[in-house]
Amino acid sequence: MIYPIVKFGNPVLEKPAEPVTEFNTELKKLVEDMFASMYEAKGVGLAAPQIGISKRLAVIDVSFKEDPEAKLVLANPEIIHKEGKQTQSEGCLSIPEFRENVTRPKKVTIRAQDVNGNWYEKTGEDLLARAFLHETDHLNGKLYISHISALKRDLMKRKIRKLMKAGEW
Ligand SMILES: [Zn+2]
Repeated sequence: MIYPIVKFGNPVLEKPAEPVTEFNTELKKLVEDMFASMYEAKGVGLAAPQIGISKRLAVIDVSFKEDPEAKLVLANPEIIHKEGKQTQSEGCLSIPEFRENVTRPKKVTIRAQDVNGNWYEKTGEDLLARAFLHETDHLNGKLYISHISALKRDLMKRKIRKLMKAGEW
């Protein structure tokens, strides 16, 4: 099933999610649905809180269907190493139509569980590093706009509030 994406303003996006404890068929179905919902929304990463489910679970495919090996399931992920710096334009499916430059580490290693509960470590650079950080942030109730200046963030929030009032959010 395709889940609608929860937008900025919904409190589920700003609270820490609960650990995944059961690696059962229900979780496998949820992961499948998350990939489908992410592709439908034209994203390269999706965290469970973005579909209203407060679980420490995210999916990533920075190849957008090109490379089956790029499909990653991150359950209970932790960032265990980061180095370097990169600045790129970043967006979020939960904050549609907005983008801002965000500076983040260039190379990141995560430790996470796969859909079967097996722990693994993976290092990503550039876009993949950014996706690891962005999605792990989501599971901690943090959005990418927390990494931009207060001035830019307030401006964005003001625009969003206007859209909300107009019923366009
Ligand atoms: Zn996001």
